[in-house]
This record gives sequence, structure tokens and C-alpha cells, in this order.
Amino acid sequence: MIPDAIRQQLRQKLGAQIDNIHSVSGGSINRAAKLTLSDGTSCFLKWNTSADPDMFVKEKRGLKLLAGADTKLRIPSTLAVGKTTDDTGYLAMEYISEGRSIDHSAEDFGRQLAALHKHQAKKYGLNHNNYIGKLPQSNQQHKEWIDFFINERMEPQLRMASDAHKLGSETIAHFKAMYKQLPDIFPEEPASLLHGDLWGGNYFYDNQGRATIFDPAVYYGHREIELAFTHLFGGFSRCFYRAYKEAYPLQSGLKHRKDIYNLYPLLVHTNLFGGSYARQVQTIVSRF
Ligand code: ADP
Repeated sequence: MIPDAIRQQLRQKLGAQIDNIHSVSGGSINRAAKLTLSDGTSCFLKWNTSADPDMFVKEKRGLKLLAGADTKLRIPSTLAVGKTTDDTGYLAMEYISEGRSIDHSAEDFGRQLAALHKHQAKKYGLNHNNYIGKLPQSNQQHKEWIDFFINERMEPQLRMASDAHKLGSETIAHFKAMYKQLPDIFPEEPASLLHGDLWGGNYFYDNQGRATIFDPAVYYGHREIELAFTHLFGGFSRCFYRAYKEAYPLQSGLKHRKDIYNLYPLLVHTNLFGGSYARQVQTIVSRF
């Protein structure tokens, strides 16, 4: 199942043969497998025959930025990135065995995410664009969070959804009305280093109970957008949020703002998968 050209490149780049392949499920975008190598080590490989191979180059950069923040979050180290002549991209990284949470795992996760968010920049955005899922994510830098949110997060996704006839002109008009109210909605916060796609499917606890985060869409943003997204598909544990707030208190009222932040992942899901996500977007913006 792994294209031969990827196997050949891996043999060269990793300096070992692939002895065994075990397919890994759970991702929403890419194919993935655990590889056992002839030198006795394992690695995690993801590849995609239909997405831009640059996606994996940017994923590698994102993982490096997260690792460079030097928190106690576990971030897989990358081993090889590349593409085949027919543009199948791949990324090989350290294989981390999933374990389960032990005492304090969730608290530590909350505390360490707060530590990550304390890494801050002068502007919202990043010095390069990357991807959210397999969609391009524009990170042009802005001094104001609202400008970044509108121009780099809402508008590109709205254009995509509108071009594909997934959202109508009435919904687009509701967005424009919402933009005018954003100065009264978003509290001031500095630009924090964010994982950028932090939901239940993009973290697990390793076999020492340490929170491991992967598959990022990194940028410097308002930390509330990261926390809002953690609530979208089920939410993390209470201990996680309590420890986060103890380490880095939040301004009150996030629960009234989180739907606005979650317009971003919901628009992304509308563009990736369509269906009910478009209706959720319409319900939220129709309030404006
Ligand atoms: P996708 O880009 O398709 O969403 P993910 O990066 O989320 O794929 O990976 C799919 C699944 O593989 C994850 O849900 C997780 O369980 C597992 N996984 C991700 N990274 C690693 C890793 N470094 N080691 C072991 N398992 C991993």
C-alpha cells in the first residue's frame, strides 16, 4: 500500500529497510502507517496521493516550532519529508505509542498548553503560510487580531465555500454584519503560539501519561481560538481547563464567544466535508 517510490526514498533517508508495515487509522486527511525498520526502530509515516506535498513540509516546520517552545508537551520529532515524482508527499516521524492518562496527566496538559501560549509574538500570523487539514491556511501577519481573524481566517474560507456553492449570499451578508461587531466581542490578548488544530483527534497521552500533540496548523493567534476549538467536538476534561486557567487566567465570558472562534474550524469542515457543517455555520452567523 505504501508507494514503492516512498519506500525507496525512505530506505535512503532513514538508512534502513522497512521490515513491517502496520496501517494506522484515525486521521481524517492522510494515509498513515507504523513502520518497523531493519535497525529495530519504528517510525510513523503519513502520505497523501492527492494533496499538495508542501503540506508535509509545513507540518514538519509546525512540529519544529512547537518543539522549540520547550514545554513539557511531547511533540514527535520528524525523520524525513519528501515527495515522489508523481507528487505523492510523505512525512516520517518518531513513532510514539499511545498510552493513557494517569494521575495529573490532564492537569499537566492544561498547564503545558498554557506554557505554550505564553510564547508570544508581536504580530498575529506567521512568517510562512501552511495548511489546515489539506486546505491552504494563510498566515499573513497583522498587528490586530480582528484584522487577522477576518482577512486570514474568515475570508479565504468564505470565498472557497461561496465558489463551491456551499454557502449562499445571505450567509455571506451575515458574516459582514458580524465583522462590525467583533471589536465588542474579542477581548485584547497578545499573539500566542498555537497548535492551531487542537481537537481530541490531535493529541493523546503516551505510555508515561504525557500529553502528546501532533498534526498542527501552527501560527501566533488569540489563545481563545485554540481553547474554543477544544470544546467543539466533545471538549477536554475539566481538570485540563482548570489547570490551564490557574496557569494562565482567561478573561471572563469565553463561553459566549466560542461559537464565533469556532466559525473557523466549521468553515474549514464545510470546505473539506460539506453537509451539516454549513448548517452550523449558518446558525451561528444568522444571529448577526
Ligand atoms: P491526519 O493528518 O490524516 O489527520 P494524524 O496526523 O492526525 O493524521 O494521524 C492519524 C492518527 O495517527 C492519529 O489520530 C494518532 O492516533 C496517530 N498518530 C499521529 N502521530 C503519531 C505518531 N507520531 N506516532 C504514533 N501515532 C501517531
